[in-house]
Amino acid sequence: MIVLEKKSDFSSIYHKKIAFVPTMGCLHQGHLALVEQAKKIAEIVVVSIFINPTQFGKNEDLAKYPKQLKKDLKMLEDLAVDYVFVPKNDEIYPYGLDQLTLVCPPSKIAKKLCGKFRPNHFQGVCTVVLKLLNIVKPNILVLGAKDWQQTVILKKMILDLEIKTEVVILPTVREKSGLALSSRNQYLKQVEKNKACLIFQALQAAKALFLSGNSNIKDIKNEITKTIAKEPNIEIQYLEICHKDTLQSLKKAQKGALIAIAVFINHIRLIDNLIL
Ligand code: AMP
Repeated sequence: MIVLEKKSDFSSIYHKKIAFVPTMGCLHQGHLALVEQAKKIAEIVVVSIFINPTQFGKNEDLAKYPKQLKKDLKMLEDLAVDYVFVPKNDEIYPYGLDQLTLVCPPSKIAKKLCGKFRPNHFQGVCTVVLKLLNIVKPNILVLGAKDWQQTVILKKMILDLEIKTEVVILPTVREKSGLALSSRNQYLKQVEKNKACLIFQALQAAKALFLSGNSNIKDIKNEITKTIAKEPNIEIQYLEICHKDTLQSLKKAQKGALIAIAVFINHIRLIDNLIL
């Protein structure tokens, strides 16, 4: 495995079929599942580890975002990843952030769900992913369904900006309890983790209700809020049932619809989703 810090180091691999897995590090089995799939579909796998400042809001957790670079590199080495790109901030943003050209995703998809509460988040995500795509020049971009809205927005950016990269999306990897793996789970104490598994239980209860024949949005949302209310310390930030590709709200739940949720447990923000 070769660890690269400079964007100029990439030119030697451009003739190979490359699958690219962008991450912010603090890797877990969810990231590793993306890497394993990337290995199956390309000759060369590139993983990036970069905590992107432009996707964090002023009051968010950029400064304390969990880091474990040594452990991450060992995990990737064990999977025989070809290249890990670990750029410093000034490699990605050499001219600073003040005068930066930004990629602005369409508000119809970027101002919904997470975007409603994290106003510039997806602009930061699109900007850094476009830069990384231009540096790594992958044939395939591998993303996790855990961040569903991100997959919708990045697919649209790739389509709109004529980027010649295929997007592969893989299912969310979960703990046995159902809790979606996330780097931010490191913030959770065990008692909070036990509470957090109610999120997926609630989504599953909603799906069961839908499969029993109830497509009333209000009833399905109620099923979720009722399940989550079993634990008074979980506060729902948003709960939406929408079209999985356009993210537009639906009048009635339908097969293939997306249920997306964000909650806070003691100020720790967790997201999850499920397709009906
Ligand atoms: P992050 O490091 O959180 O920016 O995530 C990097 C990539 O890993 C993104 O494409 C995420 O959607 C994906 N990812 C994060 N958590 C999971 C998970 N539990 N299962 C599958 N993919 C995930």
